[in-house]
Amino acid sequence: MTPDPDVSPRTPLGRQLAARIKRLGPIGVTEYMEACLHDPVHGYYRKRPAIGRAADFVTAPEISQVFGELIGLWCAVVWRQMGEPGSVNLVELGPGRGTLMRDALRAARAVAAFRGALHVHLVETNATLEDLQRQTLKQEDVPVQWSGDLGEVADGKPSLVIANEFLDTLAIAQWVFGGGQWHTRCVGLDAAGRLAFVDGAPVAAPRLPAGIAAPVEDGAVFETRAPALALWGAKLAALGAPLAALFIDYGHAAPALGSSLQAVRAHRYDDPLQAPGEADITAQVDFAAVAGELKSRGLACDGPVTQAEFLGALGIAERASRLMAANPARAGQIETAIARLMAPVGMGTRFLAIGARSKGLPPLPGLPAIDIGARAP
Ligand code: SAH
Repeated sequence: MTPDPDVSPRTPLGRQLAARIKRLGPIGVTEYMEACLHDPVHGYYRKRPAIGRAADFVTAPEISQVFGELIGLWCAVVWRQMGEPGSVNLVELGPGRGTLMRDALRAARAVAAFRGALHVHLVETNATLEDLQRQTLKQEDVPVQWSGDLGEVADGKPSLVIANEFLDTLAIAQWVFGGGQWHTRCVGLDAAGRLAFVDGAPVAAPRLPAGIAAPVEDGAVFETRAPALALWGAKLAALGAPLAALFIDYGHAAPALGSSLQAVRAHRYDDPLQAPGEADITAQVDFAAVAGELKSRGLACDGPVTQAEFLGALGIAERASRLMAANPARAGQIETAIARLMAPVGMGTRFLAIGARSKGLPPLPGLPAIDIGARAP
């Protein structure tokens, strides 16, 4: 039978998943998200350029060079706090177009001994973005190495880890409440053969984080990234010590019920089931869960604070003023970009920054100690 173009999924991966679901039954949201992002042939983070005005979404380092520069200086200060080790790994998870790293390395020129100590590791799964990163960083006179997995980086050296908009790509699992019990939330097919969310088999009630009251209403969704976070937490903790890490992402500090699974394509929100493999599928980061995971690995956590608070504490206003004074013709453009990063109803508050460090290190710059995530969900 020829598939009806009006109802069968539009993308090759969508059709592949639909055929599989027809044969074997619905798949979990985790499996769906992993296929969309990392299917070896059609996965979004295998080959798509993803980031940039001509692609699907724009990230902070692409908005202003000041973002990466401040993170580069943050790294230099942390390196000093580590006692200025002669050799240090600077690891970036999901480096996108390489823009953040390029700007960080430029700012690091101000601290020559730090720059001289650096060995850069870029952890990336996307061949197209890796090519772009190689282009962006080809002039740099520091060693740069690529790995497909953080597990390959561990070599015992002191480590600085940075990641912007990386955690949101890690797959989540979802449960849905119905008829007095919890079910795995799955992707199945509706009567017309379209991908649709369906309730899977009943499961034992998830352990809801503190702050979420049970019982809950029918249709309520609980989501967690705990398995993926545990995988990455273990690899992070296996890096050399002392270790300091910075994660910036969109998300929330207080856990809440509800599905935050979203798809973005050509700068617009899309239904997450519409274009598997051709849209960026992510979900909000639960920072309490991240803190809980990092603490369970013996690390101390600083923050989370909003992106605006973090960049403000690192001196974004002063740095932007200096950049504007040096480039009067671009002053308006620079100001607009900074306002976007700091927007009180926008990136400035929707994005949060959290740090993790070996317990022997002092609190990380720009990140006050806040006690969240004492209990891992
Ligand atoms: N940090 C960049 C890009 C964010 S988009 C910026 O701020 O512009 C997410 C990035 O993570 C992309 O580079 C993507 O290819 C990469 N990525 C997604 N899943 C990954 C995984 N499992 N391992 C390594 N990199 C991954």
